[in-house]
Amino acid sequence: MSKRVPLVIGNWKTNKKVAEVYDFLQEIQGKLPDPKKVEVGIAAQDIYLHEMVKRSKELKIPVGVFAENVHWADEGSYTGETSPAALADIDVSGSIVGHYERRKMFKETNGSVGLKVTATLRNGLVPIVAIAEDATHYNPDDEDMAPLTEIAVGLAGVDKTKAEKIVIAYEPAWAIGASEAPSAEIIEHAAKVIRKSLAILFTQEVADKIRIQYGGSATPENSKEILELEDIDGLLIGRASLEPAAFLSMVNDAI
Ligand code: PEP
Repeated sequence: MSKRVPLVIGNWKTNKKVAEVYDFLQEIQGKLPDPKKVEVGIAAQDIYLHEMVKRSKELKIPVGVFAENVHWADEGSYTGETSPAALADIDVSGSIVGHYERRKMFKETNGSVGLKVTATLRNGLVPIVAIAEDATHYNPDDEDMAPLTEIAVGLAGVDKTKAEKIVIAYEPAWAIGASEAPSAEIIEHAAKVIRKSLAILFTQEVADKIRIQYGGSATPENSKEILELEDIDGLLIGRASLEPAAFLSMVNDAI
């Protein structure tokens, strides 16, 4: 079991119409655990974020509202992009940064991920930094292990005093949208490699505070086993987060 407060986030991607968004919030009202035990978030399309923040406040739902992507500049001429300062202004909690689908389909690089992580932290937002690299190829017991490239390059410019706010989502590319998640052993090994990479880049003390989520075909059937792992501090859930009952069941597994 993790030493950190787990964070479970649903990533709705490009799904749901507005009525479905409202229905979902209504469905989870009064059913989420105490945020001191488990923090919960939903990442949705930008068009819904402002209203989701307002409704969750009105309905007293302890849920953080997250963007699925964010731009690195606070303002300026960047047609179609969403400013991190604007997200902070409407009380959004944070943003996913560098999701595998964005790296693959929209050519995001470790460099742009780095700029976005810095921009979120500068605006008081929580960056959920998605790492798809196959950490299972590295050995956390190797004294001379080099940090994973996605961490070494993607987080190189981060202010060390703010780094503990970062959340890492380990999402092996082959497990996203697939039929099965990796074994618990593979996930725990990867999380240890990631924590070691974070310790090399920052300090062990900071690395011990950073939450590492698992994502990729997490379901109500496998969530408990994954959440019991020592180095896993929550989930980033795609498909299974679209349905309130499945999402609530996975959230409760994190207690
Ligand atoms: C994701 O894409 O972030 C994800 C975890 O998807 P799924 O759970 O559907 O595999």
